[in-house]
Amino acid sequence: MRLLLVEDDQMIGTAVQRGLRHEGYAVDWAQDGRAAELALADQTYDLMLLDLGLPRMDGLELLQAQRRQGNRIPVLIVTARDAVPDRVRGLDAGADDYLVKPFDLDELIARVRALLRRNSGRAEALIRHGGLCLNPMTHAVSLDEVTVNLTPREYSLLLTLLQQPGKPFSRLELEELMYGWGQEVESNTVEVYIHSLRRKLGAEWIRNLRGVGYFVPGET
Ligand code: CA
Repeated sequence: MRLLLVEDDQMIGTAVQRGLRHEGYAVDWAQDGRAAELALADQTYDLMLLDLGLPRMDGLELLQAQRRQGNRIPVLIVTARDAVPDRVRGLDAGADDYLVKPFDLDELIARVRALLRRNSGRAEALIRHGGLCLNPMTHAVSLDEVTVNLTPREYSLLLTLLQQPGKPFSRLELEELMYGWGQEVESNTVEVYIHSLRRKLGAEWIRNLRGVGYFVPGET
């Protein structure tokens, strides 16, 4: 899961990026409206966290332009503008949710989870596929009711593959979904995580289509 954080406040941006990375998301951080626009043109994100008061281009303007271009990315506005007309304007401009600063980091993360869940068409909080069960709140994973201990990276990789069972993801796609800007990616890192996931879950859970990529079988 790759998120775009648009925030010009250093302290808030650092805390939010750290908190979301800790949850296993890849987080790119743009510090003004134009930088966010470039990032959105260059990369597909699963969700955008958007401040409104931004240098070079206001957040609302950015959001309106994205929606006009047909970008349907889930957007959570995170702003100090707390008046009701501001909230209404934000939601009318195409935001999916609105959080007022100062906020609690746990609440922000819970809203991110809820938006991602809604966007993937799941009303249920748990992700189930065959005998696999993932809890996005606690990152607990079980297979046929038996707990499996995964590292945050392994969890993030499995979650990505489970978004679209049956669809192969190339190594490059998986790297992009697992890592944000400025995070060092070692050349064989995806293979290493795939290997450990197979060891923990059983090789049949992560298939490889030679030259195409890795996938979780669609029917189990
Ligand atoms: Ca700001």
